[in-house]
Amino acid sequence: MSALTSTMDKCTSCGLCVEECVFLKAVSKTPRAIAEGLVRGDEEVRGLQFLCFLCGLCKAVCPNQVDVAEMMLRSRRDSADLNVQQNPCYRVNFPDEPAFLIGALKERMDIDFSEHSPSKFKHAFFPGCSMACFSPKAVVKVYEVLAEELGEVGVLDLCCGKPLHDSGLESRARAWLEGRVVAELKRRGCEALVTACPNCFYYLKPRLWGRFKVSTPYGLLRRTVGGFGCGGDPILTIHDSCPDRFEGIFGEQVRKVLSGCRILEMRHSKTKTLCCGAGGLVSCSNAVLPLTMASARFSEFAETGASLMVVYCYTCANMFWSAKPNVEVKHALNLVLNVGDNSELVKRGEVGRLIMDLMTNQG
Ligand code: SF4
Ligand code: SF4
Repeated sequence: MSALTSTMDKCTSCGLCVEECVFLKAVSKTPRAIAEGLVRGDEEVRGLQFLCFLCGLCKAVCPNQVDVAEMMLRSRRDSADLNVQQNPCYRVNFPDEPAFLIGALKERMDIDFSEHSPSKFKHAFFPGCSMACFSPKAVVKVYEVLAEELGEVGVLDLCCGKPLHDSGLESRARAWLEGRVVAELKRRGCEALVTACPNCFYYLKPRLWGRFKVSTPYGLLRRTVGGFGCGGDPILTIHDSCPDRFEGIFGEQVRKVLSGCRILEMRHSKTKTLCCGAGGLVSCSNAVLPLTMASARFSEFAETGASLMVVYCYTCANMFWSAKPNVEVKHALNLVLNVGDNSELVKRGEVGRLIMDLMTNQG
């Protein structure tokens, strides 16, 4: 059964997901109405597929587990050639493009992990694009912990290719994964990959299954940071990441690492977490919805009375730092390892200006 047929079959238009979702509420449509519009080839509805954050909250609240994100993703695949390949905003997010934003950011900030990347190593520490850019100090610190715990470790500083996949460019995503990521893992003699990024983790794990073991560093970090505690100040809340929604591996591990701190949960957390606003590259199609999404998160943060929002994804951190620079947001790794991040560059607008430059100067 196709994702469209499955949605039309299972969605009763009860409206529960519409109440929870910033996107569905804004367009005032149920998933069934969207599926029907897509089947009819309705142009207006076709445009909506790029406004879904692919966050999965609808599936988490739906009595019939309708998977709207999957439907939107498949629909993106059908029309990606038309909508995405020529759009400069999407293109700067693609690792196989010359104007790849992350490459330019690393060059501008002089970020280079070659010192921590020998020619051969058994365990690859795969920080992911956002961590490499927004906290190179945390990359080095985690690398040092892993080297002590595991022995042969090297930093593999590559994009996993998920932005291509999320934009519907499936064959380019596969070519990137096999031609760059897997080829590099093999060339370096790796057997396992450790990543602190929930996007990379959940994207790579099923795709590398049976070839390379994929894990997070948090279990190993627990030994190093021991009984990390905040001493009651600050009081934390934890923003869970969408890719972690259904398995909860990061959410549980991060809460264990922070178990010595006082944690107040937000209304939407764990399985029911809210997207930060960066999911699904919606910002390339609509400037307002991502900020509305981030605002919903800030409101729930304010309701808790906590003074610090802890995230475990640097893409979420970047989204929050740029949306509301005066709100205290920190990545769990920067907190427990006591190392700095590049949040100030984001808050001063330097990252945003670089993105605009890259988009303007694209060939
Ligand atoms: S919660 Fe499920 S059944 Fe209800 S409108 Fe949403 S997708 Fe349809
Ligand atoms: S995946 Fe997220 S943004 Fe998309 S419809 Fe579901 S809840 Fe809304």
